Amino acid sequence: MSFFFSGRSNKTFKPKKNIPEGSRQHELMKHAAATLGSGNLRLAVQLPEGEDLNEWVAVNTVDFFNQINMLYGTIAEFCTEHTCPVMSAGPKYEYHWADGQTVKKPIRCSAPKYIDFLMTWVQEQLDDESAFPSTIGVPFPKNFSQLAKTILKRLFRVYAHIYHQHFGEVVKLREEAHLNTSFKHFIFFVQEFSLVDRREQAPLQELIDRLLEREAAQNGAGGASGRSVRPTGGAAAASAY
Ligand SMILES: [Zn+2]
Repeated sequence: MSFFFSGRSNKTFKPKKNIPEGSRQHELMKHAAATLGSGNLRLAVQLPEGEDLNEWVAVNTVDFFNQINMLYGTIAEFCTEHTCPVMSAGPKYEYHWADGQTVKKPIRCSAPKYIDFLMTWVQEQLDDESAFPSTIGVPFPKNFSQLAKTILKRLFRVYAHIYHQHFGEVVKLREEAHLNTSFKHFIFFVQEFSLVDRREQAPLQELIDRLLEREAAQNGAGGASGRSVRPTGGAAAASAY
């Protein structure tokens, strides 16, 4: 299940990643869902007392993948070779796909192709038991933190593309509150554990600033964001993978 979307649209882009019931991560996920229900995202993202940071990052990464999978799934029909011939986040940011392993030379491709590469790659990492062990007692690999950072950095780009190129469709589908809440949760999470460089967040910096200001104004009240939050242009140059 996903923290925000249970019972809503079942449209997903890729198959949903399930965390097996009875696993330790499933318990953590239930804990996270309960904490999120309180509406205070700042508190909800914090590492629960006595829990392992890697487990916490893993369970949340799986959930963000599922959320983004569903958010992109709802607008995927509008994201085509024709509407989005390059993977971009506004006019100033363009992304070229490379995974650093099988694809080393960045490929300039359409957004649907890029997002397909990206989500398939993330899915492969999440399904890899040696990278994301689901069994209690199986240790996380030494490079887990780096891998999680790369996954989250790439997932951010799907939010950035949705906000910049498809926000109108999101509004028409009345999904903007979900998009905003999901993105705010993501940002609070990656900021809490310094998982995505600020430089990588630049395409949505103004939106992030506004979400944070709003949160500060609400004095930690949290909850779904309003309907007027939308992105504006970024400020710097294109980025490769
Ligand atoms: Zn698109």
